[in-house]
Amino acid sequence: MVSEQIEKRGINNKKILSAMLDIPRHLFVNEAQREYAYNDYPLSIGEGQTISQPYIVALMTSLLELKGDEIILEIGTGSGYQAAILAKLAETVYSIEKIEVLAKRAMSVLMMLNIKNVHIMVGNGSIGVQGGSFDRIIVTAASPDLPEPLIEQLKDDGIMVIPVGEKYSQMLIVVKKKHGEITKEEKGGCIFVPLIGKYGFDSQFN
Ligand code: SAM
Repeated sequence: MVSEQIEKRGINNKKILSAMLDIPRHLFVNEAQREYAYNDYPLSIGEGQTISQPYIVALMTSLLELKGDEIILEIGTGSGYQAAILAKLAETVYSIEKIEVLAKRAMSVLMMLNIKNVHIMVGNGSIGVQGGSFDRIIVTAASPDLPEPLIEQLKDDGIMVIPVGEKYSQMLIVVKKKHGEITKEEKGGCIFVPLIGKYGFDSQFN
């Protein structure tokens, strides 16, 4: 998976490659999917949700430009796989998942792997964490726009990676905040399940 799908597509950051070699991806999917866990596509994790394609996990991780001391907010815990990779590369990861059963399953896998610097919360991540402030924000569900609360919760010199666009097709955007100013850079097309909630696709969910 790492050499064929990730290195060959140009991601050569040794720490990211090593994290992806270390974390057993098959533990983050159910037994019926285990034989496909290292294949080059996303997989179902139940509840209508997915674990992202390995390359997308590597790409989003590399776009965060991690040095090791960051406090990260992830929106969309899903299986917990992306959070586990980030945990190896940053200080602390806070991750929000709206579906409790997925959050609980992710927590138990992370506990099994003895990963202690990921904190999973159940709730509407489209509003972030009230009063929170993060070095990096990664949104692993598709948003119609940049969620205003997440922009506010991004620290100066911070980076946010987020898929933005239509419900079934988006552009991966890197948002950087410098001296209070926001810049946006497009990093290619992608397809994520929708971010649900205020600032997402279904404002009834709060
Ligand atoms: N990062 C995940 C992983 O490593 O498995 C994949 C995430 S999956 C593509 C998107 C997740 O976002 C789903 O689990 C979905 O329930 C969650 N989600 C959607 N809207 C949300 C919201 N407003 N707050 C928190 N989680 C949300």
